[in-house]
Amino acid sequence: MNTRRNFLQKLTGTLIALPLLSKDGFANMEKHIRDSFYDGPVLRVAIMGLGSYGSRVAEAIQSCTKVKLVGVISGTPAKITAWQTKYNIPGKNCYNYENFDAIKDNPDIDAVYIITPNALHKDQAIRVAKAGKHVICEKPMALNAKEGKAMIDTCKKANVKLLVGYRMHFEPKTLEVIRMRKEGEMGKVLFFQGLCGFRIGDPTQWRLNKALAGGGSMMDIGIYAVNGSRYMIGEEPVWVTAQETKTDAEKFKEGVDETIQFQLGFPSGAVASCLSTYMMNGLDRFYLNAEKGFAEMQPSTGYGPIKGKTNKGELMQEHKTHQTVQMDEMAAIILEGKQPVVPIDGEEGLRDLKIIDAIYAAVKSGKKIDLLH
Ligand code: NAD
Repeated sequence: MNTRRNFLQKLTGTLIALPLLSKDGFANMEKHIRDSFYDGPVLRVAIMGLGSYGSRVAEAIQSCTKVKLVGVISGTPAKITAWQTKYNIPGKNCYNYENFDAIKDNPDIDAVYIITPNALHKDQAIRVAKAGKHVICEKPMALNAKEGKAMIDTCKKANVKLLVGYRMHFEPKTLEVIRMRKEGEMGKVLFFQGLCGFRIGDPTQWRLNKALAGGGSMMDIGIYAVNGSRYMIGEEPVWVTAQETKTDAEKFKEGVDETIQFQLGFPSGAVASCLSTYMMNGLDRFYLNAEKGFAEMQPSTGYGPIKGKTNKGELMQEHKTHQTVQMDEMAAIILEGKQPVVPIDGEEGLRDLKIIDAIYAAVKSGKKIDLLH
């Protein structure tokens, strides 16, 4: 806990250095001052899976006020050593995929953030929950709704929270569009378009391996359009239709979708038309059409800055590193019971998985899938 004297000492030190500060230095000073004031609870997190996104999250946590990176779980000893040095992580907080159940005896870790290939999420989340730690899990939360439900049930039984890494749920421009829609500033919502995709490289990566990815572009990037259609329209879909296109059957093997177009129908009569692809570069666009207004965002779900405009003009909300905001907000949800504007819990992840299950079923059968029964 910080005392007033502590704070004044830190502040004096910072002020003396003020004339020498670079732009980064100013940002650090801002954080330093913020941290000096903060004496609330801190969520102590271990990251599981030290790959590309895990590294991004670890860097972002360094700017958090309510979160501290205290542990790692990895199958690669060299990565553990490098992260220990970089983030000052003690050996007693380092685990591998075989022994991480022992985390239950570690009082210095509150939560584990699972950032591994999709197919591993379910079993890893269940093991973390059984060890009595809160679970933060990357999207897609699991491979299908059945797995997602098992994760929710286990976390409930273990009395731990389950949160999904939907960083856009905390993004300021996205939240402004949601506010406008909720407060009726756009009138009745009629249509949403979500275009999500990129051209995927290396054919040997896990994202193109059905056993590890659980599918193709839909599991990885199309999920942003599924999730976005729900938070932009503000309703749950009642039917789905979907069509798949495959131009490279060598790269996109059986069960790995290259491009899927899908349509969703909502109770109010609003409709969504979306595209998920691993074949088109830089596809990242949301468009919401309503009786009295619109919102257009491009990029809409990338790491930002998100850009967009509505019938009221350009969206001007400040860009902040998504993962920093997400982690501080998640700490507030776990430690202080804060309610996010858009849910971030296991049930939210499950809603997307049910829709994705239906999209794959619609592709297979060519039929319209009823989501209500
Ligand atoms: P990555 O390949 O860069 O990292 C995956 C990590 O998991 C690696 O460190 C790898 O060593 C480890 N791993 C453990 N067991 C493995 C196994 N059996 N096979 C392969 N790797 C194994 O992938 P990534 O881009 O970091 O994605 C990880 C997760 O994060 C995915 O679920 C992905 O959807 C999600 N993700 C989310 C966002 C976001 O913006 N929310 C962005 C990127 C990735």
